[in-house]
Amino acid sequence: MAGPYPVPNATIPYWRTELHELDSHRSTVELPKKQDIVIIGAGFAGAALAHYLLKDNPSKPSITILEAREACSGASGRNGGQLRASRFANVARNMQAWGLETANQVALFEVANAQAIAALVAEQHIACDLRAVTTADVFVDAAEAAKITRLWDAMSRLDCPTLRDVTCHGPGDAAERATGVKGAKVAFAYESYLMWPYKFVMHLLAGVVGKGKGKGGEGGVNLQTHTPVHEVSETPDTEGYWTVATSRGAVKARKVLFATNGYTGGLLPEYDDAIYAARGSVARVVSTSSSSSSPPAPAFDSCGLDSKSPATVDSYFGTRADGSLIVGGARSAYIQDRSQWYRNFDDSTLIAPAVPFFEGWARKTLVGWDGESTGTVESVWTGIMGYTADDAPHVGLVPAKPGLYICAGFNGHGMPNVLLCAKGLAAMVRDGATFADTGIPACYETGAARLRKIAEGAAARTTGRARADIYLKYQSGC
Ligand SMILES: Cc1cc2nc3c(=O)[nH]c(=O)nc-3n(C[C@H](O)[C@H](O)[C@H](O)COP(=O)(O)OP(=O)(O)OC[C@H]3O[C@@H](n4cnc5c(N)ncnc54)[C@H](O)[C@@H]3O)c2cc1C
Repeated sequence: MAGPYPVPNATIPYWRTELHELDSHRSTVELPKKQDIVIIGAGFAGAALAHYLLKDNPSKPSITILEAREACSGASGRNGGQLRASRFANVARNMQAWGLETANQVALFEVANAQAIAALVAEQHIACDLRAVTTADVFVDAAEAAKITRLWDAMSRLDCPTLRDVTCHGPGDAAERATGVKGAKVAFAYESYLMWPYKFVMHLLAGVVGKGKGKGGEGGVNLQTHTPVHEVSETPDTEGYWTVATSRGAVKARKVLFATNGYTGGLLPEYDDAIYAARGSVARVVSTSSSSSSPPAPAFDSCGLDSKSPATVDSYFGTRADGSLIVGGARSAYIQDRSQWYRNFDDSTLIAPAVPFFEGWARKTLVGWDGESTGTVESVWTGIMGYTADDAPHVGLVPAKPGLYICAGFNGHGMPNVLLCAKGLAAMVRDGATFADTGIPACYETGAARLRKIAEGAAARTTGRARADIYLKYQSGC
């Protein structure tokens, strides 16, 4: 297997310090020989697909989930903990790239995802520290702040439903006063959520496996961790079964669902241009001061700090109830050295230049976090995102391979996207729904024409043009 593939001995994220009993679970000693459905990947997408394939389903299919490492050990277990449906800055970026209608569709879909997660958490009492918070798109660069403010004024006159819930602070000193972010020139604040994604995903998995702490689940799924898939056959056999070859033998399945995110190209080479691994980094920052001189809690519990352009999030943070901060991004520290991140799927090592960035981050960024009352890095880790060449996830039928489906390529922004993508794809797999029936934004639909366009673009770029897709895509999580 040439890769990308999940590597052993991954760095340990804060979110994986309280492991669920199913973390290294194998439902059976041997792999089943034949299944109705095999899901590859036990991250958010894999768990959510299984959840919706079984939910209220009287004729339950046999399902096996194959996971290369531990459950939820990919991006879903090592992200920034932001469930942040973008209501402004990303909408502006998407409007420029795709037009207003599509930008609005995506923004409303993200809001619906966040609401669906909140409803599921409430309904099933999922202990995943979900908190409703205020977040803000914060701009610290004067020129960028002026540019985004002009865009804000223009978009306020258009039909942008999600902008109605956004409050603009600034331009000027008001932004720093409102957000507590040093040097903020303008900030756009709205409702968002923070959560412990691993605990949420493990609850979904426990529900489908029918064991552990998950409640309200349907049970019966065979979960096989530490079982890397090496290959999926090019064609089904004469009985219509695809062969999924693993390190522990083969499983045959009528339908195979790829929930493999940044690793998809390792199993489906036709997606190699469309979805590529991109390494990112997150740190947990704690205050260094004694309790008598603790730095002030940030005014907002979450912010995305745009420091270069409306298309860029250089760093972002979310608070924890214990006063620590989860800080992600740091791209400016290493973006020029492409070997650190581009098609880099090694989350067993750190991005070295990101570490000093995180060490100095609180002092540089937050009002009152100076002198002795500053922050220091308690832990730092890496994770692999699935960046897509055209910025949209891939959901639907794998072209020319009936029975294979994909739900992957969430671009460092999966938390407000995965759940309803998985729900829609599950409806296609189990009920024969069409993509259009699912309510997923049309630009997320995978297909032959989309892959061809991407491949042609990649070919054009390799014959001399700049990899605009890579240089413009400058967001890492949140
Ligand atoms: C550093 C970082 C920070 C992020 N911050 C945020 C954030 O704050 N907010 C947000 O919305 N999003 C964030 N994201 C993105 C978000 O985490 C992802 O979009 C989301 O978790 C994707 O879920 P997934 O299930 O598709 O992928 P993953 O969680 O990566 O799951 C894919 C699974 O497939 C398995 N797999 C792959 N290949 C094989 C194989 N051959 N055989 C068997 N198993 C295989 C992997 O081991 C993995 O467990 C961040 C991501 C990273 C890496």
